Amino acid sequence: MPTRVGWWVAVLVGLVGGILVALPAAVSAATSGSSAGTTSGAAGPTPAVDEWVWITLGEDAFASAERVVAQVPPFALLERVGEERGVVLTRLPNAAIPLLAERIHEELRRCGGFVVHASRAEADAEMARLAAPERAPEALPFAIDRPDWVVPLATAVDESQILATITALSTNFTNRYHLHPSGTASAHWIRDLWAGYAAARPEVTVALWEHPVAVTPQPSVVLTIPGTTLPDEVVILGGHQDSTRSGCSTNPACVAPGADDDASGIATLSEVIRVVLDSSFQPQRTVQFMAYAAEEVGLRGSGAIAQAYLDAGSQVVAVFQQDMTGYKGSAEDIALISDFTDPELNAFTGGLLSAYQPELLWTTTACNYGCSDHASWNTRGFRASFAFESRFGQHNGAIHGANDTVATLGGSAAHAAKFARLAVAFAVEASLDLVPGIFADDFESGDSSAWTMTASEP
Ligand SMILES: [Zn+2]
Repeated sequence: MPTRVGWWVAVLVGLVGGILVALPAAVSAATSGSSAGTTSGAAGPTPAVDEWVWITLGEDAFASAERVVAQVPPFALLERVGEERGVVLTRLPNAAIPLLAERIHEELRRCGGFVVHASRAEADAEMARLAAPERAPEALPFAIDRPDWVVPLATAVDESQILATITALSTNFTNRYHLHPSGTASAHWIRDLWAGYAAARPEVTVALWEHPVAVTPQPSVVLTIPGTTLPDEVVILGGHQDSTRSGCSTNPACVAPGADDDASGIATLSEVIRVVLDSSFQPQRTVQFMAYAAEEVGLRGSGAIAQAYLDAGSQVVAVFQQDMTGYKGSAEDIALISDFTDPELNAFTGGLLSAYQPELLWTTTACNYGCSDHASWNTRGFRASFAFESRFGQHNGAIHGANDTVATLGGSAAHAAKFARLAVAFAVEASLDLVPGIFADDFESGDSSAWTMTASEP
């Protein structure tokens, strides 16, 4: 492996062809202490700016990037264009994004950790949303009151099906990086798998969501079960389909199996699709399953989709994220991500665990800014919840490497099956309207004060 500094020099110099002399306004912005809450226009020379991308990232991730760039004399310091609630707005050459992802992963053991924006306007909108006050709590329009559907569907979850899908993705498509042809081929494979599950359901559609090439050549995949009585209200369950490995971004032959990160999430969702469509269940709200493109390079697929839903005024009532479900690294079975998620929806998700899998232990954990696709929805004002395989930091240490394989998961999908049963419950309960008077507790009253406690006892 080349030394990190030498690598950055080579890539950055190569990528800008020597025409860029410095990150514009970097020193002045950093040393003058640009005030929090502002997103000033960039000053100074900005050659080849169309080759740069605007990104937002947490202070710690920004520091990671800054430490590397500081060692590259022509680039001096990263530009700190704005900051809000611990999130920094800056920009980088587009081709440096893979290196940023790798650096954040290596230093912070984090998947993602930053958000790439399609334009300065979208980046400014993200900063404005971060600056906005939290919206007032409101009651969820659904409850936990349909064991008649949840119990049989959760019982139908087949661990061997999940394992088969993880195995297929991680061994037939050993590098699903968003720029590589295999990353597009794997998207088509997921589309075909889901279409097969929907073969006997003519009302269900499965489609590729093609993104602008500047966003990513990898399509996202979207399966839609139209709602019966509330079709304009949408429940979304998603996970990312791309994989990555340090040093592999320019080498399609490099092995980045991504069995846990995130073939496990896609396999978990695929099993939910299978059992739901194999039944006569009909959601009142529209339910969509999404395999997002290009999460590892700044939440690009989910960001583009969430932005499109925001622009269209779509009524997305709940979003559930599945990123890494295969590795049991903590005493608890499931950890609900507590930051950049919705407290009311998190209380609902925890309630689903307590109601339908009371034998499991669950807890809460924070994963910081931009750690997965739920953030694309959360920051745009949609309710999102994210169930993770362990406490953050105790998760699978093999991700983003050649050993993120089924073998590292113990050759088993037993852990992922817990998430599939949870996701089944989420899909059913969130897609059926509240039945007045039948069920009322803390989830509907909006009281989540006790939520941060571990809810289940051994
Ligand atoms: Zn991931």
